[in-house]
Amino acid sequence: MSHPDVRDRRRSDQAPPASLAFSVVIPVYNEEDNVRPLLDSLRDVMESLGQPYELIVVDDGSTDKTRARLRDLTVEMPALRVVQLRTNFGQTAALAAGFDIARGALVITLDGDGQNDPADIPRLVDKLKEGYDVVSGWRHDRQDPLWSRRVPSRVANSLISFITGVHLHDYGCALKVYRREILQDVALYGEMHRFLPALCRWVGATIGELPVGHFPRRLGASKYGLGRMVRVLLDLLTVKFLMSYWTRPIQIFGLLGLVLGGLGSAVGGVLSYQKIFHEVGLANRPLLLLAVLLVLVGFQFISIGLLGEMLVRTYHESQRKPVYTVREILSGGQS
Ligand code: UDP
Ligand code: MG
Repeated sequence: MSHPDVRDRRRSDQAPPASLAFSVVIPVYNEEDNVRPLLDSLRDVMESLGQPYELIVVDDGSTDKTRARLRDLTVEMPALRVVQLRTNFGQTAALAAGFDIARGALVITLDGDGQNDPADIPRLVDKLKEGYDVVSGWRHDRQDPLWSRRVPSRVANSLISFITGVHLHDYGCALKVYRREILQDVALYGEMHRFLPALCRWVGATIGELPVGHFPRRLGASKYGLGRMVRVLLDLLTVKFLMSYWTRPIQIFGLLGLVLGGLGSAVGGVLSYQKIFHEVGLANRPLLLLAVLLVLVGFQFISIGLLGEMLVRTYHESQRKPVYTVREILSGGQS
């Protein structure tokens, strides 16, 4: 017997057809004073687009009055849907919760603190219609502190662009527009929302970028500090690994294993030769230790690569998840 699985819903071939033109997804955590002004201006902008839309606010376990305020707002705004998470799961999980219930053909994301300008949405949508699957905002005139925010972010953006090969000026900008079918192919874990454009590229999406406005945070406090730099670095490692070796882990771990193990064997070989043919003692040779270490580590890497190969197969075959994504299928004789 099959039971409903969230992952099944993510697969584009099983996704329900879009019933709305736009879903706006906004994660909020303790933004009691920001939700109303933001939703008011969002409503005005979305109405001006003249197509059916929904506003999805995901309350990420707020402990202030956000929850009550959102409840009041649902009475006033028919287009508003609020997802209350049971506790604070983090911005990535909150976004994923919004994506899972989004019904719009296009999904628009922005922060709930009022730092993004809803008035930029029509331009982002126009840009997407030029032929992109994802369009990301670029806060070219960013209104955040220089040293604690803008400088680390600049370094991070260059590094992420260089390592993932997806060149964006501003990975941290929450204001983005996606075709919904792309999001259905991307799984979000940890704090991966920062890497969404790279993850979308990984499943074959085309990514565009557009300068957008940015306001200073007027009310409430930022939820992040400098500690995120280390986490971003580690996440970047994961993203790089996923993008390059997800379906072929043995090729990277096996290579490492062969190189290190080979080096160890060579050193061991030289030492053995000296011992056997020249009677050089091995007791006081630190190189022996190195040789043993390299050979062991080499074996470990190869084993990890093989385990990785088994894991990939389990992941894909247990849920019949293809290792590719299809843009469209054209059949002869049909218009
Ligand atoms: N947020 C969230 N869950 C969290 C942390 C943040 O939903 O655990 C929301 C937050 O309410 C805001 C957005 O994510 O709408 C971005 O957070 P913030 O403005 O603190 O980040 P910054 O702009 O300072 O990078
Ligand atoms: Mg903010």
